[in-house]
Amino acid sequence: MHFDIITIFPKIFNSFLKESLIKRAIKKKIIEVKITNLRNFSDDRKHRKIDDRPYGGGPGMVLQIGPIYRAVQFVISKFSAKGGSASGGKVQSSKTRTILFSTRGRKFDAKTAKRLSKYGSLILICGRYEGVDERVAKYIADEEISIGDYVLNGGEVAAMALMEAVSRFLPGFLGKTESLEEIKGHYATYTRPAEFVPDVSSRKKFFPRTPRKWSVPSVLMSGHHEKINKLRKSR
Ligand code: SAM
Repeated sequence: MHFDIITIFPKIFNSFLKESLIKRAIKKKIIEVKITNLRNFSDDRKHRKIDDRPYGGGPGMVLQIGPIYRAVQFVISKFSAKGGSASGGKVQSSKTRTILFSTRGRKFDAKTAKRLSKYGSLILICGRYEGVDERVAKYIADEEISIGDYVLNGGEVAAMALMEAVSRFLPGFLGKTESLEEIKGHYATYTRPAEFVPDVSSRKKFFPRTPRKWSVPSVLMSGHHEKINKLRKSR
């Protein structure tokens, strides 16, 4: 799976790509991530401007169509050169999907992540400021995705969430495939110690409505798999 991220803040991804499972997946070549700085596609050589005021007035600045058009064209042609089947214009290839992050987009969930994991390449366009020129949604992106009903400063955090969720569906990304069962919902998990007894004075001060002992349900230590499964399903 190849991810191309188009952003005006490439450094946001630095540590994200160098830690834990994502780092390992890159090393094992399960995923490949390329960050493209939108400013490199500005037609303003001096200030590398990529935004302008909205037509019709209103607050804030809007990311322009030109730099995004050129950046997407650049990543598609690079991918095609490597043997992908992406075509220019509105990307219709079954192998590549171009996603624009937007507050009005389709709500991201595990099913969408699974669907997207079937593509060979995802191009992720991160908006900023007041948003993105509407022609990106109309002519360039295949779909718009929102990661929740709240407004982020930009699409970068959404891109990281999407990359992690999609990657978890890729063969070899996780050690244990059972973790993919999370699509059906999570059950409560516990680990040692079986009984945690917080210091009395701190417990009364910080967690006043809690019991003296914080215990693991005894069924989980019974070795009785049927009862354990029943308990897990009840959560
Ligand atoms: N007034 C704009 C709106 O309501 O759509 C706010 C734009 S927001 C400050 C800048 C960019 O962040 C958006 O264009 C989008 O790319 C991204 N963004 C913000 N919230 C998001 C969310 N919940 N899901 C996905 N992307 C989001």
